[in-house]
Amino acid sequence: MEYDLPSLAKWFHGHYQPYIALGIRMGELAMELLEANRHELQIVSETGFRPTYSCMTDGLQLVTGSTVGNGKLKMLEKGALAATFSKDDKKLRIESKDFKFNMDFITEVKPEELFMWEWK
Ligand SMILES: [Zn+2]
Repeated sequence: MEYDLPSLAKWFHGHYQPYIALGIRMGELAMELLEANRHELQIVSETGFRPTYSCMTDGLQLVTGSTVGNGKLKMLEKGALAATFSKDDKKLRIESKDFKFNMDFITEVKPEELFMWEWK
């Protein structure tokens, strides 16, 4: 798909900053590991409802197409930069590691430097 996620993030969410970029990276990883297309994942995000952690959830929604509105994303008030993703009978929880609060770092490093994940 041809789109510019940073511009889309700014347009949809109001700004483009590390937490939304983190959500985009996390969503991309989940789609890769679960071999999912857009709108195929069920997601339970643990960020809670307050920015800046909740900004990560908008990153997830942008890239996966699983949203609150289409019923494919739920949010829990856990205050964690983590989410559980499922497709069919496969399920995966991805959690952020401590990361450098720097856009170049977040957008360029390998997924294993940003995240740890566990199959459920
Ligand atoms: Zn934000």
